[in-house]
Amino acid sequence: MGFDIHRLGAGRSLILGGVTIPHPKGLLGHSDADVLLHALTDALLGAVGAGDIGTYFPDTDPQWKNASSRFFVEKAVDLAARKGLRISNVDLVVMIETPKLSPHRRGIQESVAQVLGVKADRVNLKAKTMEGLGPIGAEEAMAAMAVVLLE
Ligand code: MG
Repeated sequence: MGFDIHRLGAGRSLILGGVTIPHPKGLLGHSDADVLLHALTDALLGAVGAGDIGTYFPDTDPQWKNASSRFFVEKAVDLAARKGLRISNVDLVVMIETPKLSPHRRGIQESVAQVLGVKADRVNLKAKTMEGLGPIGAEEAMAAMAVVLLE
């Protein structure tokens, strides 16, 4: 399992699961701040007993400045493969007040599946609002959770 949260701010592209979503604000961070792929990376690293995303991609390292988070997932998939593990399926939750993710759901599923090297039907994506509560409800942040099954 993996979890991540990033603040929202102006002047950044909103990238979720490797897909750029039209929105006035984007996620702030050292890399492209793709909160969904960060949660997924942590889920994969956890499943193979390999620590967490900061172990491999510290946000103090200039080489990850504005980096595509796809690379982080690919690295985690590679670590799993070296242990003889393949991805069975992943389940993803994005906590997002606006915009509605439903028009982008299929695109994000296909993007995540491509990065993982699995069929799109192995990737499930759910979006939840926070009903206006807390920093996510106030559109100050977005968060994501990921669960991955390896075999
Ligand atoms: Mg992160």
